[in-house]
Amino acid sequence: MPTMALAAGASTDTKLRDLWIEILSAIAPKLQRSQFITWFKDTAVLGLDAGTLVIGLPLPMFLSWHMEHYRALTLAVVQDIDPSVHQIVYKVDVGLKDNHERSVDILTLFPEPRRRKLPGRAEVMLAEGIVSKVLNPRYSFDNFVVGANNRLAQAASQSVAMQPGGKYNPLFLYGGVGLGKTHLLQATGNAILKQMPKATVVYTTTEDFTNQVIEAIQHQKMEQFRRRYRLVDVLIIDDVQFLARTERTQEEFFHTFNALYEDRKQIIISADRPPQELKLEDRLVSRFERGMIADVSEPDYETRIAILTEKASEYQIFLDMTVLQFIAEHATRSVRELEGILMQAVALYELEQRMPTVRGIAEIMRKLNKDPLVEEPPVGFESTPKRAPTFQDVIECVSRYYSVSVQDMIGASRVREILLPRQIAMFLGKKHLRVSFVRIGELFSGRDHTTVMNAVEKIDEKMQNDPQLLREVRAIEQELGVV
Ligand code: ADP
Ligand code: MG
Repeated sequence: MPTMALAAGASTDTKLRDLWIEILSAIAPKLQRSQFITWFKDTAVLGLDAGTLVIGLPLPMFLSWHMEHYRALTLAVVQDIDPSVHQIVYKVDVGLKDNHERSVDILTLFPEPRRRKLPGRAEVMLAEGIVSKVLNPRYSFDNFVVGANNRLAQAASQSVAMQPGGKYNPLFLYGGVGLGKTHLLQATGNAILKQMPKATVVYTTTEDFTNQVIEAIQHQKMEQFRRRYRLVDVLIIDDVQFLARTERTQEEFFHTFNALYEDRKQIIISADRPPQELKLEDRLVSRFERGMIADVSEPDYETRIAILTEKASEYQIFLDMTVLQFIAEHATRSVRELEGILMQAVALYELEQRMPTVRGIAEIMRKLNKDPLVEEPPVGFESTPKRAPTFQDVIECVSRYYSVSVQDMIGASRVREILLPRQIAMFLGKKHLRVSFVRIGELFSGRDHTTVMNAVEKIDEKMQNDPQLLREVRAIEQELGVV
């Protein structure tokens, strides 16, 4: 137990800090990590006097939140450490932010718990020498985010999981790379095994399956191979677009498929395109078409946000909403892309123990070469040592200055609070990035170039008569480092 009688001078600060660390250590396990980080980052004990503990908060908005949610908890924890404390008061001190000599650097002191390692792609030997890849427990229905892009596929998978060999047989899922097919396939396998632990669920890639067939053919063990597969309850084959073109493999596949199907065993297949577009034998295609066919496509913006939120909590990283929005706005191709950026953010966070900012994410995306907004540097100008601002810099800067989200500014909203920042961003984009009106229009969700021209003219004009606006625009330019 620390001594509460505080000596004067530098050691007072140290003691208060130690006390706060002790308190935080007791609070941390009681809260969700993301909450703890959000609300206790950059806080401090500012004083302790006559039973009153003064807690410093870095932002005014923390005040009511702490009073409402954490005061009782904090007091209880403090009283465990020092029963003489009978009240807590809060004080906002914006200087605490990023001054870790005074405040506590939560991310360093409470580092990320070790994450579960992903199991490798090990194989298991099931009964009778049947080989299956180990299902990855990370893939479940619980952590699969449902959106318009995958609703049918998810519902069909779940229904198969509840009733394998029932009405959706075979189940055929198709769609582009990184959109969740493998996740759904494995989630279905996992769910079936949970209900029926004794079931023989085989999950295999088409490549592995093909190799087994080829091997059996070479060793003249086809009979044995077929017999084995008759014991399978659920056969899941991923990526059948890779089914070898050889007639013999396809024929064997066809027989295995038929045998299982006739025994009412569940078959689940994925591919990157619908059955009729696969370059496979007709009879195989028509078998695939017998059951349920569902596609997965690219998630829309809201679904991307939901997926990011889900992944962030899975990886136990806390990300600001503006950061999530920024990623969701720019990573539109696949869920894998979203996840890739998030993983980089996690790595950055672990390495540097700092929360990823929009700028940090933009940097990551630039490195991953996924930045749709990077402009070519202007040609023929004096080169300045400073990096020229990108469109992202402009939009972020304006977004921060007016506290409106990047998404809103780029998006369709017509409310006044958004309109002005948007026009300013267009104006600054035109002035400093030296890109065309058309290009700027594209960057703002494909707006017409005349809209951009009007906005730029309007701000230009307004600045002549509106000193307040002029000051605001100058302030942003200063932040951008262009004046
Ligand atoms: P595919 O097999 O279609 O190429 P995956 O199933 O491997 O794609 O998905 C790529 C990554 O994206 C996986 O980590 C998966 O967990 C994740 N993912 C895809 N869709 C979703 C979703 N709707 N909700 C949560 N995670 C998803
Ligand atoms: Mg896959």
